[in-house]
Amino acid sequence: MKSLKNKTALVTGGAGFIGSHLSQGLLDMGARVIVLDDLSTGKKENMKDFLKNPKLFFIRGDANNLNTLKNIFASYKIDYVFHYAAKVGVVRTYEDPLGVLRDLEGFRPILELSKKNKIKKAIFSSSSEVYGNPLELPSKEDGALNPKIPYAAAKLVGEHYFRFYFHKLGLPATALRFFNVYGPRQESSSYGFVTGIFIRQALEGKPLTVYGNGTQTRDFVFIKDNVRAAIATLFAPKTDGEVINLGSGKPSTILNLAKKIAKVSEDPKVKIKFVPRPEHDFILYRHPHVSKMKQLLGFLPEYSLEDGLRMTYDWYKQNYGKRN
Ligand code: UDP
Repeated sequence: MKSLKNKTALVTGGAGFIGSHLSQGLLDMGARVIVLDDLSTGKKENMKDFLKNPKLFFIRGDANNLNTLKNIFASYKIDYVFHYAAKVGVVRTYEDPLGVLRDLEGFRPILELSKKNKIKKAIFSSSSEVYGNPLELPSKEDGALNPKIPYAAAKLVGEHYFRFYFHKLGLPATALRFFNVYGPRQESSSYGFVTGIFIRQALEGKPLTVYGNGTQTRDFVFIKDNVRAAIATLFAPKTDGEVINLGSGKPSTILNLAKKIAKVSEDPKVKIKFVPRPEHDFILYRHPHVSKMKQLLGFLPEYSLEDGLRMTYDWYKQNYGKRN
């Protein structure tokens, strides 16, 4: 296995669901990790397994703030940047569209500082949301985009910044379009996300609320696979300047997801209930084209949906109720 010993990574949003697993993965490979998070949706609790690791440095602050970033780059010799901080959750972005657009202010400072300090690689967490209501299925990176919400607009601008900084300014940078990531520690509230919602409902003895008829699809990626792909990007120079889908390539209907969760719960009392789709839920299908991911990253997910759901279910069973 490749090592990140003597390397330092800055993870913005490192107290969030995806960022905390990434930080853990980087520490496991020997890196020193600087987490920058304002704890608006991230939680210190997400980092509890590694917060005491001497190689972990947590800074509470705004990843869009130039001075905060300047101080970090002045204090540490950073090799890698993962820019994961963002206002997340589709519903939240409806409630506070301007808050989402504030994330546009962070791209330039973090990339400028990355370039000035000659870091080795910058990675941006983009989203399948840039395909909006997809015009093509499976959706290809250089195919048609149909972004629908401010969150998607922010991600798209971020992608362009990262590409531009490589192609025009020579900074190795890559944007990864994450499809639906799930796993332990994911938020499970009225803000989303479906896997956590269904598992929580199963544990509370409530029916799993499938919106509409459940034929809508999403491409689910277990968090450990997502982290492995992101770290693999550091060692794949062919990904410089590229935007890459990160998915399984095998989408699941939401009804299938609900059935699988009912199965892994091993509780025959878990039932599925079809409920009307809320107004904000208008994206029916998602299906990534994954050949670029395979070619440039040599990456394929390891966890089947069922295995990932089992691990996620077990985690919620043990931890649910202990979280606020
Ligand atoms: N969904 C559902 N019941 C719920 C919550 C979500 O059927 O209680 C469905 C929703 O229709 C959508 C999918 O789950 O198709 C994924 O929703 P999520 O909010 O997790 O992610 P996103 O829509 O952003 O992909």
